[in-house]
Amino acid sequence: MIVTIVGTGYVGLVTGACLASHGHTVRCVEVSEERLRLIGAGKAPFYEPGLEDLLREGLASGRFSVTADLAPAMKASDVSLIAVGTPAKGEDPDLSYLETAARQIGGELPACAGYHVVVVKSTVVPGTTRNLVCQILESASGLKLGEFGLSMNPEFLREGSAVRDFMEPDRIVIGQADSRSGDIVEALYAGFHCEKLRVGLEEAELTKYASNALLSVLISFSNELASLCEATPGADVETVMQCLYLDRRLSPEGDGARVHPEILSYLRAGIGFGGSCLPKDVNALRVYGKRCGVATPMLDAVVATNTLRPAQVVDMAEAALGGLSEKNIALLGLAFKAGTDDLRSSPALSILQALGSRGARVRAYDPCVGPEAAGKAGLNGFYRESLESALSDADAAVVTTADPAFRDADWARLAAYMRTPVLIDGRNVLRHVRLPETARYYPIGVGQTPWSARVPLDPLLAHRDRPARPSAAEEFAALPGAN
Ligand code: NAD
Repeated sequence: MIVTIVGTGYVGLVTGACLASHGHTVRCVEVSEERLRLIGAGKAPFYEPGLEDLLREGLASGRFSVTADLAPAMKASDVSLIAVGTPAKGEDPDLSYLETAARQIGGELPACAGYHVVVVKSTVVPGTTRNLVCQILESASGLKLGEFGLSMNPEFLREGSAVRDFMEPDRIVIGQADSRSGDIVEALYAGFHCEKLRVGLEEAELTKYASNALLSVLISFSNELASLCEATPGADVETVMQCLYLDRRLSPEGDGARVHPEILSYLRAGIGFGGSCLPKDVNALRVYGKRCGVATPMLDAVVATNTLRPAQVVDMAEAALGGLSEKNIALLGLAFKAGTDDLRSSPALSILQALGSRGARVRAYDPCVGPEAAGKAGLNGFYRESLESALSDADAAVVTTADPAFRDADWARLAAYMRTPVLIDGRNVLRHVRLPETARYYPIGVGQTPWSARVPLDPLLAHRDRPARPSAAEEFAALPGAN
């Protein structure tokens, strides 16, 4: 098929590169000149494993190209995908990019060679595709729905594993205005082997919010439990979670061994969820609820818990150092999670800001965030290019992403760079790492007893004769936090 994609962010570009590798001819349309230049040269404008290889392959084969010009791209194509941003504007999503893209696509619909299906891939609240997008397409084209097709096809990829997620989807949800539209979108995904669910437009829209709302509930549940453990001398959230995890309803047995559903990685305590999706989508769903006259006390609580969490980690640093004024703090992690350079709504930035407002001098390092991304986010004054330079003369380090580089680092060597080796572990990634004797280690989710004074270090793991295979509890401990 010939496919036009409007917007080359995480969703548009990954979709384009992956569909091209499945044999479709893809034309991505982008307004940003910088993105056009980079993508045209086979470079991804953001960090995403595997994406550049696919881009180069697609460009070389001629199946993938990028342009600023929608009209020629659309003319010969069968399908147009809208993958522009729907960022938060206050509590509402900003639909201006979506409206512009719909208007531009609508304007080109009459010139399309054949029947053309417009597919909304951006995350939008229920009713947006049927009402707003359809109405704009009709008025810009002078056509009626039926003369063109309409679909809503939510995207579930995760930054950091976007290519794999797109190539190996759990399911593909196809919201259809009519079955002809749905058939064409299903044909687009013919090469993808998973269940394809044909649903209504509003159900497709709601599915994306339901998915993100569920993840945010799990994260806030885990973080609230961590806060409760922090207020309970002798309690450790990791132990509590390991006990919880051994419930067969969460990790069932298969072939004599426990199965470890990936969803459990959302049960790791952390510093709160962030990124370009979860915070804005949970808020959008709450606002949608209000408009429908439906109270959403559970989602309200999820947001409240999430808002509290970064400050609690700053409190830990303040308590550990006896004050933050004039203290040098190394922030280890800037992005909203490990494996991405996306800084949008990152809780690490909330921590950075709170540390600064309490008088600390902050320097930050993130293995995935390059100087350009940091500069664009106004972080030049804080940014360091290595762990060593971030830790130099630091009074404490605060770990804010679960990047394996932090877990695998030689802390005996690194601690020597620090003025005082105080480690606040906002992701509990250093728990099973050999730290130097001099280090004062503060993981999250542990009751007031200082961690270093706890014997044994990890009751569930240390008290047993170790079987040859790791136990389910150990496997839980090894799960990376998902956000
Ligand atoms: P993004 O903001 O990273 O990228 C959007 C791109 O669209 C930008 O490059 C922008 O310049 C371009 N653009 C805007 N208007 C345009 C126009 N009229 N013509 C051409 N280009 C235009 O967005 P994203 O993170 O890829 O997210 C896109 C949508 O998908 C959002 O609704 C988001 O909620 C949803 N989503 C995102 C993710 C994710 O992990 N980022 C996952 C699933 C769904």
